[in-house]
Amino acid sequence: MTALPCGTPAAELLRLTADGREADPGLANHAAGCPHCTAELAALDADWSGVREAARERPRTPPGLADRALGALSGVRAAPGSYHDIADGVRVADRVVVLIARRAAADALDGLGSVRDVHTGQNKVHIGLAVRWGVAADTLAERVRTAVLAALANQVGPVVSAVDVQVNDVLPPPFG
Ligand SMILES: [Zn+2]
Repeated sequence: MTALPCGTPAAELLRLTADGREADPGLANHAAGCPHCTAELAALDADWSGVREAARERPRTPPGLADRALGALSGVRAAPGSYHDIADGVRVADRVVVLIARRAAADALDGLGSVRDVHTGQNKVHIGLAVRWGVAADTLAERVRTAVLAALANQVGPVVSAVDVQVNDVLPPPFG
């Protein structure tokens, strides 16, 4: 790739787009005030949007996942201070359930994606994921679903009967 008129290599901006401003805070600061970099970043961002849209249009999903994903959209985010009854006189804060589910999901992803959303509703935990480009979303989603269900059963008890996993974004391929 070539360099911009300001001297910034276009490849560096691509890295910024893919990995976020933490990849190079100095360059991010420069780009914010540089018309050349700003224009290039906007173009790159538009490219990634195309990738994300393409991934959404042709999702690799097991039968039924789409319906379950739509169902998850109607799930109600539990209010702060709400509790789950797990036994006579025993309650677990919703916050605890969400934290354990999020941690278990992140562990199960093992770097192949990231957790975008965790909320509970109607005896279920809903998990929204972004998966890395090129990763089989159905396999990964199922791994997360199983791991979260097991973690909650082991660490909390019978707090939910089901875990819904929704794959709702794809992370850009690493630059290289
Ligand atoms: Zn620049």
